[in-house]
Amino acid sequence: MLDLDRFKEINDTLGHAAGDDVLREVASRLSKVTRKGDSIARLGGDEFSILLPNASETDAAMVVSRVSSCLEEPIVVQDLPLRVDASIGFAAFPRDGGDADLLIQHADVAMYAAKAANGGFAMYERFADPHTPDRLALIGELRGALEREEIVLYYQPQMTLSTGGIMAVEALIRWQHPQRGLIPPDEFIPFVQETGLIKPLTHYVLDRALRQCRAWMDQGRPMKVAVNLAMRNLLDADLPVDVADLLKLNGVSTDLLVLEITESAVISDPLRTEAVLARIAKMGVRLSVDDFGTGYSSLTYLTRLPIDEIKIDRSFVTNMNSSADKEVVVRSTIDLARNLGKQVVAEGVETAGVLQRLEELGCHLVQGYYVSRPLPAEELDAWLAESASLSTT
Ligand code: C2E
Ligand code: MG
Ligand code: MG
Repeated sequence: MLDLDRFKEINDTLGHAAGDDVLREVASRLSKVTRKGDSIARLGGDEFSILLPNASETDAAMVVSRVSSCLEEPIVVQDLPLRVDASIGFAAFPRDGGDADLLIQHADVAMYAAKAANGGFAMYERFADPHTPDRLALIGELRGALEREEIVLYYQPQMTLSTGGIMAVEALIRWQHPQRGLIPPDEFIPFVQETGLIKPLTHYVLDRALRQCRAWMDQGRPMKVAVNLAMRNLLDADLPVDVADLLKLNGVSTDLLVLEITESAVISDPLRTEAVLARIAKMGVRLSVDDFGTGYSSLTYLTRLPIDEIKIDRSFVTNMNSSADKEVVVRSTIDLARNLGKQVVAEGVETAGVLQRLEELGCHLVQGYYVSRPLPAEELDAWLAESASLSTT
């Protein structure tokens, strides 16, 4: 498994066409250093994999070293010589895995290990001992977890303060791991979002969330569903088409989908993300700025980007009643959002007191444990039915 290092920088600074040229050149060099009968595949993004059938370990080691050296020569794009390094992970049958899935998984682990060590090359063998960093082993299993549908979606309701009704939810993923139980997203998203795997993951989440959205439409209770995007998703020019296809496939009206982005995601590469966001907004999909207040906020983006909603980060909300500073941030953000004509959501509402204060301040929606924890769809349906019957009695 091979993943180019800092490929994003090439894309960012020289544009997509230059990025494509680099990928083509890498592919052509790879085919020159492999043998007849070896297979080379591009798995997506800047990830390649090479299968070496009937190779001894010495053969394989040779290919690995030839692969690294074939990338030493700079790739010339737009008259600029570019240095393209790769992180390479290697796994051997049968020592590192008895079937294709396991081999790919372990080669992935080795590749992430190489990446973590700042590029170069890693064999799985070295990481197969009990001292393997847990997280690394976990990430290696993620590709298979998607196929086995172990990634599950929980939904957290957002309450409209003016009516007390629930018209929107946020989809939050968990990994239902067969051995380790339910793993929260913070334990794997931060690693995955730096890699090509974030694309299939986001596709998976969007598809499941829209399917559920359709089910709620069919029950006569249309519900907006918010899905979180990673920075890398916003650099992906295919995203708008992917979103449009999934909306169509699941028969969901575009205004029921909300995509949550973070401030830092936009600021890292405004030109490219702005183009992607504009295409998404034009379709009628709503955009929300998540974790507002924690990024390197630039207020120009709030007016320049087609944003519908601002979500105040829970680090300001949860304790706003015992911290004057936090309260000021919350109050000012609500004012800012309202004055810009945007919807404002407070996340991390854990007490009745905070909910009440937010209502006084003119916040539109609240999300937090005080209303409900994130729940699987069936449990949320039961909770909704129960709260509906409570409010009519
Ligand atoms: P986020 O988008 O800011 O989601 C809100 C997080 O706050 C969720 O954590 C939620 O369970 C938690 N939360 C909700 N109410 C309260 C509360 O009252 N008090 C406290 N202390 N926490 C509350 P969770 O589910 O663990 O998700 C963590 C993060 O993982 C999310 O933060 C989001 O950035 C990321 N994430 C989750 N699902 C996805 C996904 O499908 N794709 C991507 N790219 N990221 C995701
Ligand atoms: Mg979110
Ligand atoms: Mg948030």
